[in-house]
Amino acid sequence: MCDLGASRRAMLGSAVVLGAGLTAPVVGGATARAATRSEGKGKGAGDAEGTRLILLGTAGGPVPVAERFGMSTVLVVGDRNYLFDAGRGSVSQYVRAGLTLKSLRGIFVTHHHADHTADLFQYLLLGLISPDGDQLVPSVPVYGPGRAGELPPQWGKPRPAPLVNPANPTPGLKDLFADALNGWAYQFNELGREATMPAHPDRIMALHEIDVAHTGADPLKTRAPRMRPFTVFEDDRIRVSATLVPHGLVFPAFGYRVETPDGVIAFSGDTAYDENVVELAHDADVLVHEAVSVDYYADRDPADGFIEHLKTAHTDVVNTGDVARRAGARKLVLSHLGPARPGMVPDRVWHEGATRRYAGPVVVGNDLDVVRLGRARGAAG
Ligand SMILES: [Zn+2]
Repeated sequence: MCDLGASRRAMLGSAVVLGAGLTAPVVGGATARAATRSEGKGKGAGDAEGTRLILLGTAGGPVPVAERFGMSTVLVVGDRNYLFDAGRGSVSQYVRAGLTLKSLRGIFVTHHHADHTADLFQYLLLGLISPDGDQLVPSVPVYGPGRAGELPPQWGKPRPAPLVNPANPTPGLKDLFADALNGWAYQFNELGREATMPAHPDRIMALHEIDVAHTGADPLKTRAPRMRPFTVFEDDRIRVSATLVPHGLVFPAFGYRVETPDGVIAFSGDTAYDENVVELAHDADVLVHEAVSVDYYADRDPADGFIEHLKTAHTDVVNTGDVARRAGARKLVLSHLGPARPGMVPDRVWHEGATRRYAGPVVVGNDLDVVRLGRARGAAG
């Protein structure tokens, strides 16, 4: 597994002390405002500090439901924020959570579906110039999938299949930013003549396409071979490892494991039930897992392929509990819920499904929920 070695533990151990010293004045007041639905609600002001997740958006699927924004989660470690996916509304929710753009020190994209990326470029568009001085600090590292390389064959029933951008039909992270940058050139070029940007827009973010060549994976048949998580990013606060997960026809699709001074978080990404996720979440303090309710869609005509899609690209809520139990995760957070509208599947039904095979605590994610870590302080909330 990718647990820390002794020297690394010592390194992160010192980061705990450093983080504790830096945290209070920079982040504390802001996140106290953010904790509208915090598990720590009602605790003393001191409990607002510390490593925590804020669920910016918890909706599954590229659908603009009112009750939940698109998939996005931010990890706050001291005075640094790390973003995992940037679905619809992520920027607005980030600001609503009281977080500063200058504290954004990493973005990690699980896969190139719009419900995870709709706001990705918006961070660059909206984070460049600020009258009050809060703007992105170049360069923000962004990690995510590169080009798939090949389109899969038709799946399910025959249907019209558009081919957009035939010259490059499987663009990766760098393509996404390059094409968006060109499309918004006038905005940058004009604005640059009336305001000061921190750097050329193409240097605000450092784009890293995660190399999967060593995994033996391919875009057509073996998209998520059994593997151990591999390190993709490390600074003096966190280490991020990735694994490939099976998400229907999508390739590459990643889950992430994040080691922090206060515990380990695993993000399943969008995935079917899979051994790679069980290993990714091994002994994690928090597992953030996607969830769909197959029961809710039980009346769908099987011929339309949607139920099959749910089973091969997503994880039924009952199975999320199975993953958490087998991984030994100490807390399960459901996010990326499908269906996303609370009126369709109430929180108590999600909770009942996830706890059928898992005895640990389960959080049914709602936007702006705060999930605290704090094993070191015995304050996991
Ligand atoms: Zn997806």
